Amino acid sequence: MTKSDYNTIKDAIESSGQIIITSHYNPDGDAVGSAMAMYHTLKSVNANIAVVLPNRFPDYLRWIEGSGDVLIFDQHDAKAMAKLFDSASLIFCLDYNAPSRVESMEQTLRDASARKVLIDHHPYPETDAFNYLLSETAASSTAELVYEFLENIGFSPLINKAAAESLYTGIVTDTGSFSFSCNNPKTYRITADLIDKGVDAEKIHRLVYDNFSESRLRLLGYAFDQKLIVLSEFRTAIIALSRSELNRFNFKSGDTEGIVNFPLSIKEVNVSILITEREGMLRLSFRSKGQFAVNDIAKDHFEGGGHTNAAGGNSYESIEATINKIKALLPLYRHALDYEIQ
Ligand code: MN
Repeated sequence: MTKSDYNTIKDAIESSGQIIITSHYNPDGDAVGSAMAMYHTLKSVNANIAVVLPNRFPDYLRWIEGSGDVLIFDQHDAKAMAKLFDSASLIFCLDYNAPSRVESMEQTLRDASARKVLIDHHPYPETDAFNYLLSETAASSTAELVYEFLENIGFSPLINKAAAESLYTGIVTDTGSFSFSCNNPKTYRITADLIDKGVDAEKIHRLVYDNFSESRLRLLGYAFDQKLIVLSEFRTAIIALSRSELNRFNFKSGDTEGIVNFPLSIKEVNVSILITEREGMLRLSFRSKGQFAVNDIAKDHFEGGGHTNAAGGNSYESIEATINKIKALLPLYRHALDYEIQ
């Protein structure tokens, strides 16, 4: 984005036109945090502002101030939503790289004539779908880029405590509490400024990570004890959880978040894959440590994508067939998977 782009967007924010802030399907901490930070900051300049997310966000993010104002697209009348999008002059697209990532909201977003501003850190953005792009794959999180965007349009002084807490949530969740994508000093400078603005980092850690049910911890125990497959030859771990297994532990959205990271704590394991059964399909989460790019495997074989060390994908086959497909694919990556982390 050029300086004149920033000025144009700033003017559009300051005019009284309708602004819509969107993020991706199955919104995570960075998606909700980035959207709410933008909402809290721009609200003081333009009251015609709405946050619209494609579907529900997890309970562990409900404490975020103002999150009750979020409109959930798939829970609203389609006509009313189309009308809102028609009336918009500016749409922010945060933490996703293509309109397909908003799933059932895709056509409504594409049809909207508003200028679209992408702020995101995923690779391969669909550049034609947006008017302005702030796309940096090196950024820890979209929250970090939202901070930079607000700084570039001169709105840093408007980042209040609620916005700072939202941004901090995005950074802390997308870096696994500063354990990956966290080697850039800029991330810590931004974080320090957010703490200056009143963020209680310890409180947010408790709200995000110590806010689950007993059944969720028992689900984790079951997953690791009964369901973990370690393919030492390929330095890969797989956990698959069926619908009935998830139901047995009163599964709620967000409960499986983080499970996929644990197998990476095994010294020899470089890649971890979690398979969970959703309505009529399987959701795959991929994580790696070091150089192995899981977004390639997700993109090439499971119609997904993401980052080098964290990606997602889908499968429409059975759990057994999907595990077999992964086992058949791994030998193709044998050399790429065989490395030591220093
Ligand atoms: Mn993100």
